[in-house]
Amino acid sequence: MDDLHIPNKMGRILLLALEEILGEDDLQTVLARAGLRDLRDYPPDNLERAFPIPWVPRLTVALEDLYGVREGRNLAFRAGHACFHLGAQDLSLFLDVLRVALRLLPQNFRLQTGLQILAEVFNRFTPQSVRVEEAEGVYRWVVENCGFCLGRVATAPCCHLMGGLLQATLAWFVGKSVSVTETTCIANGAPHCTLQVEPGV
Ligand SMILES: [Zn+2]
Repeated sequence: MDDLHIPNKMGRILLLALEEILGEDDLQTVLARAGLRDLRDYPPDNLERAFPIPWVPRLTVALEDLYGVREGRNLAFRAGHACFHLGAQDLSLFLDVLRVALRLLPQNFRLQTGLQILAEVFNRFTPQSVRVEEAEGVYRWVVENCGFCLGRVATAPCCHLMGGLLQATLAWFVGKSVSVTETTCIANGAPHCTLQVEPGV
């Protein structure tokens, strides 16, 4: 990754999501633990690429330090869900129309559409590159240069924030629950992070 920044808007949504999950006081504790006290003033709501990507794993590491690995990753996953819902508020007019258009289409088509649109957001607005693969009804979300675990070393996949974001996005598109599991992670020694996606039953 040459440019290690994402749009201010994305950083702002992440902080609002963490505030929603943790409450204001605990978020301040997490920011202090991450060495990011200055983020008390959230970034402005614009698309300027000025929010450093390494701050994202600093925040999730701080969650794990403060709450323990298991609960910290659970909180990150929930924050990923909240990121989708906060981001969707911005796009509510567009999404309301899209929801009607999608309603009559087959489930797999809706799932693919969700994967492709979110991949496009990642590829266009962040320095990460995502591709979507499919084999026998199972989809894989493959990130070549993942910002969620940038610089981390972990004994198990740790991109739960991305998993939550992907799961909430796809559940919206499909209209029911979707299973998302990170099967390989750069922090765990793999060449890329892979999230396996299966429609729920
Ligand atoms: Zn990962």
